[in-house]
Amino acid sequence: MTSYLTHLECALCGKTYEADRLQRMCADCARPLLARYDLSAVRSLGRGAAVTSEPTMWRYRALLPVRDREAEVGLGEGFTPLLHARRLGAELGLSHLYIKDESLNPTGSFKARGLAVAISRACELGVREVVIPSAGNAAGAMAAYAARAGLRAHVYMPTDAPAPFRLECEALGAEVTLVEGLITDCGREARQAAEAHGWFDLSTLKEPYRLEGKKTMGYELAEQFGWGLPDVIIYPTGGGTGIIGMWKAFGELGELGWIGDRRPRMVTVQSAGCAPIVRAFHARGAFAAPWEGAETVAAGLRVPSAVGDFLILRTLRESDGTAVAVSDEALVEAQLRIARLEGVFACPEGGATLAALEVLLAQGWISPEERIVLFNTGTGLKYPGVGRET
Ligand SMILES: *Cc1c(COP(=O)(O)O)cnc(C)c1O
Repeated sequence: MTSYLTHLECALCGKTYEADRLQRMCADCARPLLARYDLSAVRSLGRGAAVTSEPTMWRYRALLPVRDREAEVGLGEGFTPLLHARRLGAELGLSHLYIKDESLNPTGSFKARGLAVAISRACELGVREVVIPSAGNAAGAMAAYAARAGLRAHVYMPTDAPAPFRLECEALGAEVTLVEGLITDCGREARQAAEAHGWFDLSTLKEPYRLEGKKTMGYELAEQFGWGLPDVIIYPTGGGTGIIGMWKAFGELGELGWIGDRRPRMVTVQSAGCAPIVRAFHARGAFAAPWEGAETVAAGLRVPSAVGDFLILRTLRESDGTAVAVSDEALVEAQLRIARLEGVFACPEGGATLAALEVLLAQGWISPEERIVLFNTGTGLKYPGVGRET
């Protein structure tokens, strides 16, 4: 099985770009490029032939952008368990509550999916040195895949990122530069360094392929639900690559004829200390204004301004979804409840999905018979101190 990638297309203006050379964002409007595939060819091939039996996300290789199998840099990412959360569900009066447990990925988070694809593809197109701004999990994942591919890796990380993230990057051989400030400040420094040294910048949605890795969460959910989909997906949203990627996957799956017309309602949850998407959603904005003074223990949610803001907001509206902000206390309390009731030591971001579920149940926005998926995006092990005080 090989990739059916055809070209890239700007998510805002629709301008197309050749896929087999290095591309970053749209030259005209500086917005993300989306990978497009020959879906009718894959449709004629049929699902049985197109999806392999490998227990990783590479089973969907026909719908991924890496051309040469030799170029795939893998550590066993994806195909994570969809756990039926029976005890947690019983406590909330729900019989169809599930946790998609992304903490089982290499380096302990779903960032592995995006960076496995982005590094593989960058390597395939001749990149030798990469850089990323990250407050945590993306940096660790990039460092791991860069090490495996033999690329030199540079990380720009806020000084106040939890220590395990920095230690992990250093252990994996990346050069770490600590930046006084937020992820957006790291982004600026990474961009300047990339320009100065000719490094390839792997910032999320500023190159087309991390999104492709993350969309495999959508393919997996469909497959794990017997080529169906749940009613509601609650997703802790930072840059939004995961929620945008899953929505892209559902569109592709529909065109492939592998699923019917029904789509889940997509829910963004953010911390009340940094909730630009929630604010923009309820103000009916098409874009989100930057959040001032972003502050939350959920490092993956501390994204004051996302390049893909309009794509997140579009996903929430097209899916008839919503957006919820929860306090840090609520998300940490929920993190511990997932741990105690389901045996999953979730990250604080994962905890936020349970806190949001409770808000939506109380509002009557979700009804008890619905099939609900909470995304635990990473392991709780990398946040020393968080939750220990409660
Ligand atoms: C990066 C990250 C998020 C946010 O993911 P996006 O897809 O960028 O919105 C959520 N949780 C964890 C643990 C993360 O590392």
